[in-house]
This record gives sequence, structure tokens and C-alpha cells, in this order.
Amino acid sequence: MADKRTAEILKGARAEIARAESSADLEQVRVKYLGRQGILTRLLRSLPALPAAERPEIGRQANLAKAEIETLLAGRLADVKAAERHRDLAARRPDLTLPGRRPTGGTLHPLTLVLDEIVEIFLGLGFAVAEGPEVESDFYNFEALNIPKDHPARDMQDTFYLSEDTLLRTHTSPVQIRTMKAQPPPVRIICPGKVYRRDADITHSPMFHQVEGLAVDRNISMGDLKGTLELFARELFGPATEIRFRPSFFPFTEPSAEMDVRCVACGGEGCRLCKQSGWLEILGSGMVHPRVLQMVGYDPEEVTGWAFGMGVERIAMLKYGIDDIRLFFDNDLRFLSQFSAS
Ligand SMILES: [Zn+2]
Repeated sequence: MADKRTAEILKGARAEIARAESSADLEQVRVKYLGRQGILTRLLRSLPALPAAERPEIGRQANLAKAEIETLLAGRLADVKAAERHRDLAARRPDLTLPGRRPTGGTLHPLTLVLDEIVEIFLGLGFAVAEGPEVESDFYNFEALNIPKDHPARDMQDTFYLSEDTLLRTHTSPVQIRTMKAQPPPVRIICPGKVYRRDADITHSPMFHQVEGLAVDRNISMGDLKGTLELFARELFGPATEIRFRPSFFPFTEPSAEMDVRCVACGGEGCRLCKQSGWLEILGSGMVHPRVLQMVGYDPEEVTGWAFGMGVERIAMLKYGIDDIRLFFDNDLRFLSQFSAS
């Protein structure tokens, strides 16, 4: 004898499970029939109240119905999940028309870019690159460059001494001395490299980069120096760049001159960058002091020479409009990735 209630419940459950479209639908069906307050659960719970004769058969049919609903739910759930996964994958199908993702490449450091550009200009003018140690002796860093014992550049505040006689070079000039001691004239070199001074603020770093140049030969004049540096400035800052020389003093050159370029920011009108002067100082230069030539064994009666030196950070700051030298050394990729070789 089939119990009418169980048959009705089963019929309803089968239809609802067949209609279910999602795992959420199926969960609703499960709760409706098999949950704590579900239709079938309530029927099973009411069995003790039934007449003893009907109890076993109705109980058996109710349990069979429960087992069938559970099986149907599990089967339908598997189908629905497969369909859901399918829809999900279809929705996420890659768009083959999108541009590919490029691997992010590194960029050259702005100082490397500027240094390379400076070196490239002088290589084109027939100069060779010379390098030397960053830990130097007092002789090469000072003595041979005609810097007497009482010169302010030797002050402990400026120089990192490693011992009484060894120090971190304060300029790349010792490379000029080493080169001249190693070969007879003519000499035509540039010396790029790191130098060290005890100084740190927004325009000074305890380590910075210099490029120095040296030309020694017969009949080398101040006019050659001026022509070479004018050409250099125009290559670096543009063909219309104007330059001027101002008398200055360095122990290792005589006469000495600072070179300015017309302000790259205001064109000479006067602005914050050039402190309203219209000019920017970019390097120091001069005729090599005869005593320096003597120190390396050259005859100042036979040969003359000129030299110049510039800070790479300063040039890069002017070229890119950077107002804080520390940005070069903070390793902030947001800053560094803005520069690329042009
Ligand atoms: Zn200016």
C-alpha cells in the first residue's frame, strides 16, 4: 500500500530538483524537504503518532523517499556545478585581440645616461677614457696636483682619510697624474669616476661622479680649451647654447676659469635655477700648472696642456630639471624609471 503523502512529497521534490538551475536553487530544495523543518523530516518525526499498523510501511516509504531525494540532489548538483564551471570559463575566455603584456625591462640610471653622453662626446673628439683607483695616496690626490699641505681642500671636513697617507679620492685628477707618469706626451684623456667628499645636502652627496679631461701636447693653448668646451656644451645642451668663462683659481691650473652656460631653464632671462643671473656654472678648467707637468716628468718648456672637470650629478640635475641630488641615490623606481636613452 503506497502512502499518498510520501508519493506527493516525492513527486514535488523530483520536479523541483529537475528545475533547479544553480547550487543555490538545490540548497533551497534540500532545506525545503530534508532540512530541520523540512516536509519529509516533519513526516518522519510524526511517525510515533500514527497507528501502530501503518507505522512500519509509511516509515519505510518515507525513508526510501528521503534516500531518493538525496541521490537526486547529489546528481543534479554535479550537473549544475559542471554547467556553472562551463559558464564561468566561457565568460573568462581570453580576448585574443588584447595587446600582449610586455615584460618590464629596466632603465639606465639617469647618471649613467648623462655620463655615457658626456663620454661619447669626448670619444668623438679623439679623447681616450682613463680610469684609476678610488682609494688614493696623498701624493696622487694632492701633492702631485700642486695642492700644498695647508690648502683648505685637505681639511678633514672635506676629505675621507683612511690613514695619514691614504684617502678616498676627492676628484678624478689623480688619474691624470697616473696617466702622465705612465706615458710621454701627447695625452688626450677623459677620466670619469666616483669621488668622495664629506658633504651632504640637497646639492651635495658624499659620493658623486666627475668627468675630468686633460690634453697635453706641443702648442696647446687656452683657445683650444675654449673651442673644445664650447663644442661640448652645444652637443650636450643644444646647438644654440652660449658659454662664458670667468677667471677662477685652482692650485693645479694657471690661469684657471669657470665655465658657465646660458641658463637652460630661462634662456638668460633670470630664474630660480640660475639665481636670476641667467647663467649656470657647469665646470672648472684651466691651463695645467707648470709644476704639475714637472711633477710627472714632463718639460713645461716643451709641452703645455689644459684640463677641466665637472660634476656629473650637477649636469644631470640641470639637464633634467632635478632639484634634489638625493633622488639619484634613493633607488625609488618611480623616479628612476622616468629616464630612458633618447
Ligand atoms: Zn635661469
